[in-house]
Amino acid sequence: MDQADIHAMCNAKNALENYPEKDRNPVYKSIISMINAYLDTYCKHRVIVHISDDDSREYTMSPSYCEKCQKTFS
Ligand SMILES: [Zn+2]
Repeated sequence: MDQADIHAMCNAKNALENYPEKDRNPVYKSIISMINAYLDTYCKHRVIVHISDDDSREYTMSPSYCEKCQKTFS
């Protein structure tokens, strides 16, 4: 798989983020931020831009995001 390490880190991050934020201790939080740093450093971002064309013919753009690490870009 392309960038399997990124995929593994994303899975880990998603699992960690299921735990309530208020119950996370500083070490727990630092692990999440280390994963974020890893993703930022090593993900070759593939950014997806969503443009929806509704009935009023106005284009609305939602934040684009990386399909690999889910990072959002504004
Ligand atoms: Zn990415």
